[in-house]
Parts: sequence; structure tokens; C-alpha cells
Amino acid sequence: MDFLSSHSIAPSKVVRGEHAWEESYQLIPTICRRPLLLGRSNTTAELRQGLAHRLQEIGLKNVSAELKHDCCEADLKRLKTIACNNSCDGVIAAGGGKVLDAGKLLAHRLEIPCITVPLSAATCAGWTALANIYSSAGAFQRDEVLNKCPELIIFDHSFVRQAPPRTLASGIADALAKWYEASVSSGSSKDGLIQQAVQMARVLRDQLLIDGPKALQDQNSHAWIRVAEACALTAGLIGGIGGARCRTVAAHAVHNGLTQLEACHEMLHGEKVGYGILVQLRLEEMIGGNQLAGQARRQLLPFLQKLELPVSLEDLGLSKVSLFELKEVCQFACQEDSDLHHLPFTVTPSSLLEALVAAGKDEPVIIESKNTEKSRAS
Ligand SMILES: [Zn+2]
Repeated sequence: MDFLSSHSIAPSKVVRGEHAWEESYQLIPTICRRPLLLGRSNTTAELRQGLAHRLQEIGLKNVSAELKHDCCEADLKRLKTIACNNSCDGVIAAGGGKVLDAGKLLAHRLEIPCITVPLSAATCAGWTALANIYSSAGAFQRDEVLNKCPELIIFDHSFVRQAPPRTLASGIADALAKWYEASVSSGSSKDGLIQQAVQMARVLRDQLLIDGPKALQDQNSHAWIRVAEACALTAGLIGGIGGARCRTVAAHAVHNGLTQLEACHEMLHGEKVGYGILVQLRLEEMIGGNQLAGQARRQLLPFLQKLELPVSLEDLGLSKVSLFELKEVCQFACQEDSDLHHLPFTVTPSSLLEALVAAGKDEPVIIESKNTEKSRAS
């Protein structure tokens, strides 16, 4: 009966709300005195300049740096040099998922604390002790487990509200994946923490289905706050409580495969993950013989469409993609160490290809398999 599990559940401190940044002025200097302020896009440049200015005013010498690509080794190497040359004693990462991941990784490697300031609700990267590493061209390579979650996450609603609505829709799709993936990866786990994390993922899904459309319509609603925090905070907490058994399965494996295609690089993380959920459900229906998965997929389709999330290869910008390239996506997603293999049945690249092409179709699959075992209770 003995078992040992070690996981990083949450940042040491979470400050969230309308003026969370200002509220953190007392806290930041207790964590670092010479932070590297990391960001990326032009659209957040002015906001980040404001942050740098305020840090200066509260007596913190800070140096600003930008990610040139996605979170990749070339960027990390360059940032490490900047941090070392300026004797930085902490990293403040302000941006989307790639910036937050790069900030956490940099801090992890330099053994200095990290503060995350998500500038959208597109992912839960500001919360977790995980980082995805990409090639400098944006293709997913691997993820790395970090020794801890950030020291502090500052989730300032006034910052997040400035992000394009598309980032929130993308965050909703990424957070929805928690239920579809965790309920499969946890399997028949006897671990109470895992069981409870999976139930949190179910509640999270239900809230997103109810509040998602309203949140996108009205940024000043309570629904917006619940949804933005669900995507950026709760989704991370579920991964923290559930640990490795409560992580990604096929939806993220399909995302990782899709990032291998240049044509898909303009799509956001959650937009690809959302399509990945449809593919995973199609696989569960097609190979696992799980009719509930088919029903779930057909219910999810109009919801994703309402949020203007991609539900076809065309929507993903892949209308001109060749069969050869789609096969490459499937080969990547089916690699030996892929999370896709946490599905309770074997998936070959050719069956994945079939599901990838047909994931957004609104009709049930003709089930050949006799296996009607349910892999998830709805
Ligand atoms: Zn994700």
C-alpha cells in the first residue's frame, strides 16, 4: 500500500483582482531586488514599460528583456546571459503562456525566484511547475517539470481584460481539456487527491460551459471573472493537486503534433488543444467504442463554434495541408513517450489520422469494436 507522491501544487502566494499589481508592491521586494522583466509581443510593450517604471519607483533596479521566438533553448540561452550580466536575482514574466513558461524555466535554471504576471487568460502557465519547450520555429519539443511553482502569481484583472477576446476563448478550450484528459489519465486511480482533482475538473468544465459565452460577451461581468480565473488559475490548481496522473492525454498530444506544421503556428495553444479534445473524443468513440464520448463530442461542437474556436482542419488554417504533412502530425503525436498513449486502447498513426480528419463531423461513428467499456463516467 505504500506510495510516495511529490508535487508542486500552487504558487506560494496568489494575488488576484482588479488592482492586483498595485497590491503586490509590498510583496515583490521581499522576493527580489533586481528582477529581469520578461515579455514578448508589441501589443503588451506599453503595459510592460509601465510595469518597469513602477518597479523602478518602488526601488527595484530592473532590466527588461524580450522573448524573440517561443519558449526555446536559443532564447533561454540569450536571456540567461542578460540575467547573469545584470546580476538579476529574480524573474518577473509578464505575458502569455510562452513568456510565462520561459520566465519559469529561466528562473529554475538560474535557481532564482519567479513571479508570473499573466497578461491573458489563455493558459494556466502562470500557475504551474511545468514548462513547454519549442524549437525556435515554434514546433513543440518536450515539456520540463520544474522544482516548484512560481513564488508569486499576480493575476490583475485590468491587465487580462486588455488581451484580445480570442485569448479567453482559447483559454476556455485549454481548461475544458482538463476534464476530458484528467478523467482518462486518472483511470481507476485509488488516490483520493487524484479523484478530487478530477471532480474539480468536471465542475470547472460545467462552469465554463455555463459562463463561457457570457464571459466573452461582457468583460465587465462576474462571469468574465469566473471564467478568466478558471482558465488561468483553477486549471493550474487541478494539475497541481492531481500531479502527474492528472495531466494531458490525446488533446495535448494532438496539439503537440499540430505545432510541427508551420501553417498552424498562427493558432493559439488552446485553439489547437480544443480541436485536440474533439480528436480525442472521436478516438474514444471510434476505437474505445465509447458512445458517451461520441455524445460529448457532438455536444461540444456547437459550444466551440459559438466561441469561434476551430472545429475543422480548415478552421485551423490547414486547408492546403498535404496528406504527407498530416501523417507527420500523427507520427509526432503517436511517438512512444507521447501522452496520447494514456488512452485505455492502442492508437496507431493511421487511426489517429482518421480521427484528425473527421473530428469536427457532426455524425456518430459507425462502431466496429465490440468493446463498449466506458473509459469515463459522464
Ligand atoms: Zn494546455
